[in-house]
Amino acid sequence: MYGDRLARVRERMAGLGVDVLLLSTGADLPWLTGYEALETERLTMLVLPRDDDATLVVPRLEVARVHEQPAFSIAAWDETADPVELAARLAGAPTTAAIGDHTWARFLLDLQRALPRTSFRRASEVTGPLRMVKDRAEVDELRAAARAVDAIVREMRGRPFAGRTEADVHNELVERMLDAGHERANFAIVGSGPNGASPHHEASSRVIEPGDVVVCDFGGSMRHYCSDITRLFVAGEPTAEVLDTYAVLVDAQEQAVRAARVGTPGEEVDATARRIIGDAGFGDRFIHRTGHGIGVETHEEPYIVAGNRVPLEPGNAFSIEPGIYLPGRFGLRLEDIVVATPDGPERLNQAPRDLAVVE
Ligand code: ZN
Ligand code: ZN
Ligand code: ZN
Repeated sequence: MYGDRLARVRERMAGLGVDVLLLSTGADLPWLTGYEALETERLTMLVLPRDDDATLVVPRLEVARVHEQPAFSIAAWDETADPVELAARLAGAPTTAAIGDHTWARFLLDLQRALPRTSFRRASEVTGPLRMVKDRAEVDELRAAARAVDAIVREMRGRPFAGRTEADVHNELVERMLDAGHERANFAIVGSGPNGASPHHEASSRVIEPGDVVVCDFGGSMRHYCSDITRLFVAGEPTAEVLDTYAVLVDAQEQAVRAARVGTPGEEVDATARRIIGDAGFGDRFIHRTGHGIGVETHEEPYIVAGNRVPLEPGNAFSIEPGIYLPGRFGLRLEDIVVATPDGPERLNQAPRDLAVVE
């Protein structure tokens, strides 16, 4: 699996004229090797020359975290050594280097000084188009992560909401994600009542009141692959207005999912959801794109947004998450992860999509 990805990376490097790929913190490294660099001031960097063996420059004290694999050898550096000098030496004298987009700027600046004749570009130019097309193993991982958060939704449908703070529900979601096998909870948005009208609301000390609609949008990483789901909970009976508005959203989401076929550009899928919401009179209340790609990062290519004319390919994985936001009152969003397949769109999330009436 990693060997195949490595071969595809080398092929793309050749096509782009990239002599060496330098990967540090960020999602490219775990995608390519299964190893994730720690976010610290000690440099970890995979040095991958196009035509030579790859080496992982890693702090000596972190070597035990690296599982041996044939994809690269290890160059451990001691506390007083200069890891930038080591990485530069392993890179040779490249004309063009592609460096991970999430590499700390301090390391790039030092590398530029160590390699004055090298021009640097973003590693995402190499990896982005490859990461966008998931192989079978990746779709299986995304499906497993989706199933894990589906189970959490089902459990939450039996839990009380009224009288609890948003922060309390947030903490429960985080704990449940970890219990369900995620190694990391990436986010857990809990927006109750008027707070739900802010799509990226941070869970606050607001106490959920009877009648509130509560937007729960949460996700984490499971064996490096991300989950991301949004479901709505109503503390008590929803009003007719909430039900009617939600019916529009469900239709928009359903039609957008159906539109997400191989060959259809991302912008057409976005337009499908937007047309339905606009026809119902909420066009200016749908204030974000319809979706984003997902994989080893929660947000990656392809984006389901106006202007993205690239046709969907088999293996593209992305969210379909239209929303309707009524400032000062309530917000509604419904989100599933979908994979484009030759047989049509496959929803990875299977949790019930109706408004969950809770206590
Ligand atoms: Zn978002
Ligand atoms: Zn989400
Ligand atoms: Zn999302």
